[in-house]
Amino acid sequence: MHFYLATSFIFPRSLRLRLFTLCFVATHLPLLGYCGWGLATGRIALTEFAVLTLMTLFGTAIALIGMGALLNPIHALAETFNGKADAALPEVGDVIQTLYAGVHRAASTTRAQIDDLHVAAHEDPLTGVANRRGFLAQIDALPHDQRRGCVAIIDIDHFKQVNDQLGHDEGDRVLAAFADRLSAQLRRVDRVARWGGEEFVVFFHGAAEDEACWSLARIANQMRLDPIGRIHGRPISFSAGLSRWAGDAVDSALSAADTALYDAKQSGRDRICRAGPVVQMV
Ligand code: GH3
Ligand code: MG
Ligand code: MG
Repeated sequence: MHFYLATSFIFPRSLRLRLFTLCFVATHLPLLGYCGWGLATGRIALTEFAVLTLMTLFGTAIALIGMGALLNPIHALAETFNGKADAALPEVGDVIQTLYAGVHRAASTTRAQIDDLHVAAHEDPLTGVANRRGFLAQIDALPHDQRRGCVAIIDIDHFKQVNDQLGHDEGDRVLAAFADRLSAQLRRVDRVARWGGEEFVVFFHGAAEDEACWSLARIANQMRLDPIGRIHGRPISFSAGLSRWAGDAVDSALSAADTALYDAKQSGRDRICRAGPVVQMV
């Protein structure tokens, strides 16, 4: 494409004429060389000059006719491409530029579609936060020195009653509001995702257990002060299980957080439990 653009000053509207010019100059170089050498040394021989000129013209004619024949199918392609048999055919240069632009456009569209598919595969459409797959991909992509912090699994309490009492639309609204609440209250470096149903997962980037626990307790307090909804007149709450993650397989930290969540539910809900031998409630 660089050479194509660099030579576009010769017959800018016609690739065919550009090719012919290039071919003409190239096939005449030996003759020009012989003439230059002959004139400089005075050893030019008439017979050799005549034979060389004849062969050069013959070679040029073959090259031009051959090139013209090879270019004809591209004209035919342009005809089909533009769907106008009777209209004046576009020049070959235009066709190449059109094809190049078309391929470029198709590549951009494909790239955009792949991006859309990637977003759809990694994002939860209801809440706009990452889904389980997106969360795990984000964790997977963390550089080695940043693979530590805490993970929490958070579950909305008695969520079924929201659906049962207020309907699924209200349930959906509560889920989206809860995701917004988590995202708004967490640091930019933390990661929140919908784990499934009314469960969410949070990665507290580089945080110690105490810091993550305070962060969750602050959100729990906000749920009481500024409820995202009510069940039987009481603010909607959540339970959470928290576990440290030291960079090993994240599955084990998540499973420990899940066990701690179970403890939180068992001991009355609306609380945060830490994983490990000592279960501490906040
Ligand atoms: P617990 O305090 O033990 O967690 O009780 P719960 O009612 O929150 O939990 P349960 O597992 O009994 O019910 C969860 C409900 O969440 C059941 C399911 O219909 C509802 N749910 C899951 N996904 C969605 C959703 O996308 N939208 C709505 N509206 N409801 C959902
Ligand atoms: Mg649940
Ligand atoms: Mg629940």
